[in-house]
Amino acid sequence: MATKRDYYEVLGVDRDASAADVKKAFRRLARELHPDVNPGDPEAAERFRETSEAYEALSNPETRARYDRFGHAGMAGTQFHPEQFMDFSNLSDLLGAFFGDDLFGTSRRPARGGDAAASVDLTLVEAAFGVTREVDVEIISACDRCDGSGAEPGTTPQTCPSCGGTGHVQHVSNTAFGQFVQTAACAACRGRGVRIDTPCTACRGRGRRRSQESVEVQIPAGIMSGQRLRLAGRGHAGEAGSARGDLYVNVSVAPDDRFEREGNDVVSVLDVPFTRAAIGTTVTIDTLDGRQELEVRPGTQPGEVLVLRGKGIPVLGGRGRGDHRVVMNVLVPRKLSDEQRALLDRFESTVDDATYAADDGFFHRLRTAFR
Ligand SMILES: [Zn+2]
Ligand SMILES: [Zn+2]
Repeated sequence: MATKRDYYEVLGVDRDASAADVKKAFRRLARELHPDVNPGDPEAAERFRETSEAYEALSNPETRARYDRFGHAGMAGTQFHPEQFMDFSNLSDLLGAFFGDDLFGTSRRPARGGDAAASVDLTLVEAAFGVTREVDVEIISACDRCDGSGAEPGTTPQTCPSCGGTGHVQHVSNTAFGQFVQTAACAACRGRGVRIDTPCTACRGRGRRRSQESVEVQIPAGIMSGQRLRLAGRGHAGEAGSARGDLYVNVSVAPDDRFEREGNDVVSVLDVPFTRAAIGTTVTIDTLDGRQELEVRPGTQPGEVLVLRGKGIPVLGGRGRGDHRVVMNVLVPRKLSDEQRALLDRFESTVDDATYAADDGFFHRLRTAFR
């Protein structure tokens, strides 16, 4: 086991720090290290856990006195629950519950659950035509043992005597400038408005638990890399009776080595030997819809673009599809044998004015179709 860091060192306070200083230090670190602020950062999550444990030990005068006398050895057998700090679905919930911070300055309403995030990796073809994916998400959900009430089944939560069930308390201060009323979450019930005398054994009275959920996500046709889908009401559970947060699914689309996406068009490059470009040929190419024959007309020029109308990517949330543009990459020999050189010399001797003349009719029409 790794050596445990000193709790005072973890919170960055002196050994004779007041309870208020301990609280202040934890609040500062919580704002800095909370998973909300550092999504997907395991180091911050671990430091947040460590900080929470140190705060839990030092915020209680009894455990703090034991820690001061015996160090970590004195903590043996003590149950720490750093996850109670993590389980608050978001930072403002946590600060509100423990410190009465009201980040929004409004009177309290039942907090909606926090938003959760997941990500999916798609191929270009999946992104083009849409796909249904199962996504695993870690969700804070209502505890099924107590139905989210936090009270052991068979017992009933009592109305919190400190706040009368409203979940918040008001501090009135009289100053030279008049009377100020400050509203903050009730510390006695952590803003829940109820007192739970017999906490649910499964969730320790919090009413919420972490669980793995498999969520079916319908990816719409035409989605682009970097876009985000919102699944309303599929995020973390809120406090009893309030709405769940949303689930955001980040979409990333892997590059396809056959096509490049340009808006709703796809572009591919076709290698055509100069002889075939001159004589014409029929080839089979990859399209989003699978293999397809493509006619390369006689006299095809380097860089010419053939447009397959409506063979691109479906318009997201709309109608129709983009185009598939095929760029002709005419291959010119880099190495010739004596025989080949002789053949080309012979060809060259037959060239006249008409050989390289542009046939405006066809090429002009085609060129105006390019962008
Ligand atoms: Zn429970
Ligand atoms: Zn209360």
